[in-house]
Amino acid sequence: MKSKVYIETFGCQMNVADTERAATGLRQSGYELCNSADDADVVLLNTCSVRERAERKVYTRIGEVRAARPGDRNLVIGVMGCVAQLEGESIFSNAPTVNMVIGTRATDRISSLIERVREGERKVSDLGERGEHEGWDVLPVERHSPHVAFIPIIEGCNKFCSFCIVPYSRGRERSRPASEIVAETNRLKSLGYKEVHLIGQNVNSYRPRIENGLEGFSGATPFCRLLRAVAATGMPRIKFTTSFPRDFHPDIVTAIEDNPNLCDWIHLPVQSGSDRVLKAMRRGHKRADYLERIERVKTSNRRLSLTSDIIVGFPGETDEDFRQTIDLVEQCRYDSLYIFKYSKRAGTPAASFPDNVPESEQKARFLELERVQKAIQEKIYREYVGRTLSVLVERQSSRSETDLVGHSTCHKVVNFPGTSALEGEIIDVEVTEAKTNSLYGVVRAA
Ligand code: SAM
Repeated sequence: MKSKVYIETFGCQMNVADTERAATGLRQSGYELCNSADDADVVLLNTCSVRERAERKVYTRIGEVRAARPGDRNLVIGVMGCVAQLEGESIFSNAPTVNMVIGTRATDRISSLIERVREGERKVSDLGERGEHEGWDVLPVERHSPHVAFIPIIEGCNKFCSFCIVPYSRGRERSRPASEIVAETNRLKSLGYKEVHLIGQNVNSYRPRIENGLEGFSGATPFCRLLRAVAATGMPRIKFTTSFPRDFHPDIVTAIEDNPNLCDWIHLPVQSGSDRVLKAMRRGHKRADYLERIERVKTSNRRLSLTSDIIVGFPGETDEDFRQTIDLVEQCRYDSLYIFKYSKRAGTPAASFPDNVPESEQKARFLELERVQKAIQEKIYREYVGRTLSVLVERQSSRSETDLVGHSTCHKVVNFPGTSALEGEIIDVEVTEAKTNSLYGVVRAA
């Protein structure tokens, strides 16, 4: 009988994509994938280390998985993803019930690690680089959605922001050839996918070693050319995330203006509104540079939705620095904002910075910024009432049996009454009500 593998995923879209890729490789090697740790012979936890809390969760989860199967000596537990890459074999001493440590570039070699454990090795690890010929193929059955697909276009990060662990957990930037990305988009389109997300830590830093697939497409940067090449496939909706401010060329907005299937949403994390803090964060951009880029977004001939990430309570952040962040948020009027309390990450430069902001102050700043954003967002969302949005119907709502849920092209969550026959369709929804983080509407007759 085939061994059953269960993969539980934490963290960002890149981890979701890695899980899809690992599942594809395992199925091709003869394993069966299952949906619960209780049914599995092998449990893999695909982990995130971007903040301390996410990292701690892994150890709690390892304990739970083991406690649910006391005495089951056949159960194999593996830790994959960012925590695995960073902590390496020390995981074996922190959590002695773990059998495998699988780094971020070892996703295609998991089956051979499982075989080694089955053959009697108690602890195995692979923290190596990707192999030359390891593919990016993902079987449709392993995709997280039958309608929306993630396409990694760049892995890793070269930016070394002082707070961030990603360059250490995911290594240097490596871009996929455009020909592969375009071919994958075409394949997904022929399978009926309606939306793709081009993903990476910094998508607009895309810089492949070879031109293949970009010939004939103009653009100020390789990413702008890639956007035009992917748009030319005719995939109905194309989104991309995350963009890095320093590499955000205005031609990205021009590409969106020229191609209706490039969606009207830009996620551009700013992290702080204070030049002093941005410098300490080693972001490589100042407040004014960011606002200049935003100006092009705000004055586009399409109404582009803009979202961002902000860290509050970075070491040395004064009340005056924080006021500048509030001021920037009021100026940018984000459609939505992810706010994080600074979390110290061992091994990053900021971990040794003095003047840590006390937890109580971090919390107060978090809540104040959240209040400011909520007021801005309420106004923006109210402006949608009466408008009709194009929505990709993704699934039944988890809150109501009679409602469906999907995303607009501007990446708003939209709920509306409807039957499952609409799932996978792109439909027009007239917005009738604005909620805090979503819109409610009714289907407009075609
Ligand atoms: N590469 C993107 C960038 O920096 O522009 C974002 C990737 S990061 C995985 C997602 C978000 O997590 C960041 O934008 C940042 O706001 C937050 N983050 C990263 N490191 C953090 C830390 N040490 N403490 C708190 N938040 C953090």
